Amino acid sequence: MAPKPRVRFAPSPTGELHVGNARTALFNWMYARHHGGSFILRIEDTDESRSALSYQISLFDDLKWLGLDWDEGPNKEGAYGPYRQSERLDIYKSHLQKLIDADLVYPCYCTEEELEEERQNLILSKRMPRYMGKCRNLSPDERKQREKEGKKPSYRFKIYPQTIEFKDLIRGLMKFEADAIGDFIIVRSNGMPAYNFAVVIDDHLMNINHVIRGEDHLSNTALQIMLYRAFGFEPPTFAHHSLILGKDRAKLSKRHGSVSIGEFRKQGILPEALVNYLGLLGSSFTDAREVLSREEMIAGFTLKRASRSGAIFDEEKLLWLNAIYIRNCKTEDLVARLTPFLEQSGFKKEIINSEGFKRIIDLVKTDLTTLADIENHISLFFDDKYELTDEAKKILEKDTAQNVVRTFARYLAHNTEQQNLYAAAMKHTKEKTGAKGKELFMPIRAALTGKTHGPELDKVFIVLGTNSALKRLEFFIR
Ligand code: GLU
Repeated sequence: MAPKPRVRFAPSPTGELHVGNARTALFNWMYARHHGGSFILRIEDTDESRSALSYQISLFDDLKWLGLDWDEGPNKEGAYGPYRQSERLDIYKSHLQKLIDADLVYPCYCTEEELEEERQNLILSKRMPRYMGKCRNLSPDERKQREKEGKKPSYRFKIYPQTIEFKDLIRGLMKFEADAIGDFIIVRSNGMPAYNFAVVIDDHLMNINHVIRGEDHLSNTALQIMLYRAFGFEPPTFAHHSLILGKDRAKLSKRHGSVSIGEFRKQGILPEALVNYLGLLGSSFTDAREVLSREEMIAGFTLKRASRSGAIFDEEKLLWLNAIYIRNCKTEDLVARLTPFLEQSGFKKEIINSEGFKRIIDLVKTDLTTLADIENHISLFFDDKYELTDEAKKILEKDTAQNVVRTFARYLAHNTEQQNLYAAAMKHTKEKTGAKGKELFMPIRAALTGKTHGPELDKVFIVLGTNSALKRLEFFIR
C-alpha cells in the first residue's frame, strides 16, 4: 500500500498571505484531508532581511481563519521539527559539509559587482545569463589567499551536463537540460542556506512525499532534483498548479485590487466563501456544482483535474458566493460575525445583542454581499441614523407623493392600536388618494426609511414599530 501523503505548505513570512499562496495551502490541505494524510506547515524564514515575526503571526491567524489546520508545524510540534528553518541551521550546516566532502560544491568568492558584470556581458553577447564558474577551479592556494583577504565565500553546487526529468502530477513529463543552468548558490556568504538547498533537506527529513506548489517553482524543481541526486535522497512526487491571474492575464498582484487574505477579511468576506472560491478557481473538483461545503470539497478534490492554465480571479464571483454564504448563515451566527463591523460603525453591544436586532438582521441578510456592507442596510432602522437620501427627497417632492404620505401618516396617528395597522393604513391610503403600485409604495418607503430600496416594507414597519414610524412621518402630518 502506498504511504499516506505527507504534504507541506512552506511560506516565507515576508508579507501578508496572498490569495495565490492561500490557494496553494488549500490544495495541499485538501489533498492531505482527501487521502487521510498529514498537512505540515513549515516557515521558510532564512531571509532575515525580509522576514518579520509580525508576518508569521498574521499568517497563522489567516490560516486558522480559513480553517486550514496543520497537523505538524509551529505551535504543533511533531516528530520532524523544528518547523522553522531559522531553527534548523545546524542541519543545513552538516548537509553542506556532506556535499563539500563529496566534492560536489565549492566556495565562491565573487562579489556582487563581479557577478553583475558577468551577467551584463552575457546579456550583451546574447547568451543565457548564468554563473560561468569562475571560482570552480580555484587551487587550494588561491582559496587560502582569498580567505586571508577576509573574503567570506558562498557555496555553489557544481552542475554537470545531464537531463533532468520528472513526472508532474498536473503537467505530465517535464524535462530540463542542466547545461542551461549555472552552478547555483546553496549557502550564502552570510552562512544562511538558499531556498533550493534548505527545501530539499527539509522535504527529505520531514518525509514529505508530495510537493504541491505553484508553477513558478518549476525551474527550481530541476535544481532541487539535482540536489536530491547529490544527497542520494529519493525525490517526492511533484505537482505544480497554475497561478491566479488578473483579468489582464498577468499574475495577480496588488494593482488588480485586493489580494491579501487580510484585505478580504476586512471587506467582510466569509472564510467559507473564500475557501470555496479558491477551490473552484481552475476547478479541481469532480463535482460540477459551484457551492460546495468543506466536506464536499475534500471529497471531490483531485489533482488530476487541476487546470494547467492560469485561473482568472473573478471578484464578482467571489462576492456572489459570499452573498450565498451570508444568506445561509443562522441569524445568531451572522450577528456574531457582524459584531466587529457593527462595533466599528458605533453600534453598542446592548443593541447588537438585543432580540429586535436579530429581527433586523433576519430582514436584511438576503441583501448583504459582504459583512462590511451592514451599516448601509440597517441604518434605516435607527432613528439617529435616519436621513433622506437625494433619491428619496426627489420622490417626496411631488404633490401626489405628499398627499399619499400625509394620508398614510394621519391614518396611523389616529389608529395606533389597530391590528395589522400597516396593511390597513395602506388600504385606506390607496382608496383615499387613488394612487397604486409604485406611486403608492415609493413615497411611503422614502418617508419611512429615507431610502428608495430596502427590505419588504410591511416587515420594515413591524420592526420599526408604530412610534418610530410616526416620528418619521410627523413632518407630513402637520
Ligand atoms: N518558501 C517558498 C515560497 O514561499 C516555498 C516554495 C515551495 O513550496 O517549495 O515560495
